[in-house]
Amino acid sequence: MAKILENNKIEFSKEDMKAAWNNSPKLINRDEDEFRLCFICKFFMDHSKFEKGDFSWVCEFIDLKNLRLTPDNLIAIHPQCREFRHKDDCSKIVKKIKATQWSAAN
Ligand SMILES: [Zn+2]
Repeated sequence: MAKILENNKIEFSKEDMKAAWNNSPKLINRDEDEFRLCFICKFFMDHSKFEKGDFSWVCEFIDLKNLRLTPDNLIAIHPQCREFRHKDDCSKIVKKIKATQWSAAN
């Protein structure tokens, strides 16, 4: 489970990272272990690139309003998309996006 450190940074465990990745929308024409959709900008993320590089990803909270540090509240997004999140509580948006089938352009 994620921890808030003394410097107010958040530490994510391996399990958190796994949960964040697994909670992000799948692409029907890509391996779900390798590529997922960033729910903010709708471009794909590359699992092999954490934090740095093109199409990299980081852990983000789905709901910041009722902040829970549990894995179900985590999702993978691009680092640069953090500031573009739709609202503090993105649970409904995430649900809606996951109900749609997404494919990556070739
Ligand atoms: Zn993005």
